[in-house]
Amino acid sequence: PICLSPSTELLLEGIKNGNRRMLSKAITLVESELERDQKQATSLLTRIIEERREKAQIDPNSINTFRVGITGPPGTGKSTFVETLGTNLCNQGNKVAVIAIDPSSRKTGGSILGDRSRMIKLGMHENSFIRPSPSRGIAGGLSVHTSDQILLCEHAGYNVIIVETVGVGQTEVSVADVTDMFMLLLSPGGGDVIQGIKKGVVEYADMIVVNKCDGDLVQRGKMIQYEYKNAIQLLGHQMGDWIPPVLTASSLMGIGIQDVWKKALEFKQHSKENGLFETKRALKRKNEFWKKLYEFLKMGLHNSEEVMNSIQKLQSLVERGVISSRQASSDIVGQIFQYM
Ligand code: GDP
Repeated sequence: PICLSPSTELLLEGIKNGNRRMLSKAITLVESELERDQKQATSLLTRIIEERREKAQIDPNSINTFRVGITGPPGTGKSTFVETLGTNLCNQGNKVAVIAIDPSSRKTGGSILGDRSRMIKLGMHENSFIRPSPSRGIAGGLSVHTSDQILLCEHAGYNVIIVETVGVGQTEVSVADVTDMFMLLLSPGGGDVIQGIKKGVVEYADMIVVNKCDGDLVQRGKMIQYEYKNAIQLLGHQMGDWIPPVLTASSLMGIGIQDVWKKALEFKQHSKENGLFETKRALKRKNEFWKKLYEFLKMGLHNSEEVMNSIQKLQSLVERGVISSRQASSDIVGQIFQYM
C-alpha cells in the first residue's frame, strides 16, 4: 500500500472511525488549490481506492452504496425533501451523507447559509453527514472533485450519498455524471415551473417526484404528474426498459416518501441486474478522469514559472496584434510537449 504521511494517516483513521470533523477536513482538502494539499489529497484517495479494492476482493458485496442526485428548480422543496427522506433512511439504519451544492457567492466562495440552517433534524441525526459545498463559478454546477468527495463519504461508512443541486439550467444534469440515479423534483406551486424545466433535463431523469402534493396543491400536483407521465412516454429513457416513474409526495407531511425510496431501490436493483449499474460507474470514472486531466493540465500550466513566462511574452504580442492568438496558443502547446 501507498505510504502516507503521519497527518494523512491520522486523517484516514479519523474518516474510518466516523469522525465527521475529519471527513469534513478531507472534503475541504480535495477542493484545495494549494499544491501541498493536492498532493495530500491524491495520496489519501490512492489509499482509499486501495482499501476499497481490497475490501471488494474479500467480499464483493461489502461496498454496497447508492449515489442519488436530486435536482429541481429553487423553492421546489429539495431541502425539505432531503431532510424528510434522509431522516427516514437514517431511522431505518442507513448512513446518509448529503452533499448540497450551493450556488455560492463567487466573491466570498462561501455557501449560502440556507442549507446549513435547513435540514436541521437530519443534521442532528447520528447517522447523517451534511456537507454544503459551494459550487464553483456556474450556478448549480458541480466541481470536478465531487466524485472524490463521494468516495470519502463512502469510506467513512455512508451507504446512501445524496448530491443535491439547484436546478437553474442545463448544468443541473451534471449531477447525473457522478450519481447512480438522477431524480428530478418538481412542485405544483407557481405556474412557471414547467417552462423552467428543459426537455434535456427530463430526458436525463431516472425518476420524477412532484413534491408539495398536500392541501390545496394536490389537484394541481396530480395534473403535473399526468403531464410528465405523458412527456416521458414520448421521450423514452436511456436505460431502454426502464420507464421513469412520476410520483407525488409531500415532504412537509411526509406523504409518499417511502414510495419514492421503494422506487429508487427498484431502479437500483434493475440496473444491477442488467449490468448497467457498474457500466455506468465505469463510464463516469472515465469521464471524471478526462475532466480532471484538463483541470490538472490547466493548474500545471499556471504553476510552472517557465511556461507562464513564455505565455506572458506571447500574451503581450497577441494583445498588440503582432501575432494571432491561434499561433501563440499553438506555440505554447508545442513548447510544453517538447519539455515532456
Ligand atoms: P429548495 O429551494 O428546493 O431547497 O426548497 P425548500 O426545501 O427550501 O422549500 C421551499 C419552501 O417550500 C419552504 O417554505 C418549504 O417549507 C416549502 N415546502 C417544502 N416541501 C413542501 C411540501 O411538501 N409541501 C408544502 N406545502 N410546502 C413545502
